[in-house]
Amino acid sequence: MVWEAVIGLEVHAQLLTATKMFCRCRNRFGDPPNTNVCPVCLGLPGSLPVPNEAALAMAVRTALALRCTVHAVCEFSRKNYFYPDLPKNYQISQYDRPLATDGVLEFRLDGETRRVRIRRLHVEEDAGKSLHEGFSDSDRYTYLDFNRCGAPLMEIVSEPDIRSPKEAAAYLRKLRQVLLYLGVCDGNMEQGSLRCDANVSVRRPGAALPDYKVELKNLNSFKFLQKALEYEIERQVRVLEAGGTLIQETRLWDERHQRTEVMRTKEEAHDYRYFPDPDLLEACLDPAWVEDLRRNLPELPDARLERFMRQYQLPAYDADLLTVNPRVADYFEAAVQVGAPPKAVANWILSELFRYMDFETGLPPATVPPTHLGQLVRMLQERVITGAVAKEVFAVMWETGQDPAAIVQERGWQATQDEDQIRRWVEEVLQENADQVEQYRAGRTKLVGFFMGQVMRKAGGKADPQRVQALLQERLQALVPTPSDR
Ligand code: ADP
Ligand code: MG
Ligand code: ZN
Repeated sequence: MVWEAVIGLEVHAQLLTATKMFCRCRNRFGDPPNTNVCPVCLGLPGSLPVPNEAALAMAVRTALALRCTVHAVCEFSRKNYFYPDLPKNYQISQYDRPLATDGVLEFRLDGETRRVRIRRLHVEEDAGKSLHEGFSDSDRYTYLDFNRCGAPLMEIVSEPDIRSPKEAAAYLRKLRQVLLYLGVCDGNMEQGSLRCDANVSVRRPGAALPDYKVELKNLNSFKFLQKALEYEIERQVRVLEAGGTLIQETRLWDERHQRTEVMRTKEEAHDYRYFPDPDLLEACLDPAWVEDLRRNLPELPDARLERFMRQYQLPAYDADLLTVNPRVADYFEAAVQVGAPPKAVANWILSELFRYMDFETGLPPATVPPTHLGQLVRMLQERVITGAVAKEVFAVMWETGQDPAAIVQERGWQATQDEDQIRRWVEEVLQENADQVEQYRAGRTKLVGFFMGQVMRKAGGKADPQRVQALLQERLQALVPTPSDR
């Protein structure tokens, strides 16, 4: 019997603002515990929240990029629950009237374009962090760090339009890419600046939406998201096929045991006693301000990919890889600026550079500015150096930060064009390999590759291969009787 998975994702993205959502504390990961706190984010009596305009702007820009309707008026609500890392005992979030609704995210999966609808996008504040490990008395105490408390978050909720774990990962990958392009979130799942909960149920294909869903938490990587969903779908199918029923609950992915485990039976929204926060006014977004943000949206991933194919004549495969991360795409464009052929630059980035740099964060290499890579590709194109030497030059560039021309000059790595010199090498090789020459004469013309390699070896890899090839051919042709000689 066939089952179909129904999946919807709730994604939390930490916004890259300088300060927190409702106070002026610094919003930064990794500072010493409890150094970025104030009466507002600690919930001390008499303090009042003031919304951060930069955070709202980032949320609006994201909503626009996801083709959502941005509402002229939205409302902040209190979501009430007790947790030690939540000093106010409520989180300021948005409930009835979120900042934006009804968007869509398109992405490619197995050669097809998939569309997943976005149900809503809202802003809220983060909670602090409970530290259960790392202290000498961690067996008896939990420590609290409130630096993250009040940090601005954006929650992006999809409709249950996703049908497989692989599609869930593709959706999240594309969403992360859009956030990186907008510069609103650093997308770091390990550090928790991008967090994802997955809701999943199973049904007969085409049946109505199941009346339960299981929420999976603790999915802090693409791998965990996919594995947890795969496990959970299998588990649910097993239960249903055994004639059982599934209940609404929240489960955690347990990486050690490779399974999901019940965390709590799912609470309902009304348990949180949401109500409009009396300390905050409705947020009225000036349409002109929103329009301004729309006009100033950057080029987004799909548009950039299209442009890379059109403007630089790149194959879709290259354009896709180069535009995954905007910093890589910027790097490529800056390298091409130097006048290097785009396809050759793309090859260098996708092979050599990706071997050296951190693909996930896409940090541009500190020692190899794009102009240096562009110059290297040009030198290769202009046959100043050979391909083999170019790789060595790149390694030195990476180590020393020097520009390629200086490296080649200093080490005398120019490919020789000197025809007399090359002819001498060719003669030597033919003399030293009399057997092969005989075989060549007898018709094994494939041996030209062998001779070529021998000459390049004599040249220490530093002869212009095209010139070597030409001179070698010229010499070999003279050895073989042409048809007219027979
Ligand atoms: P809640 O109020 O519990 O947060 P929502 O209806 O707001 O639930 O939905 C939360 C997420 O769950 C959304 O991403 C939505 O797409 C997804 N979802 C809703 N119903 C289902 C279902 N039957 N199976 C899987 N996911 C679902
Ligand atoms: Mg929810
Ligand atoms: Zn504060």
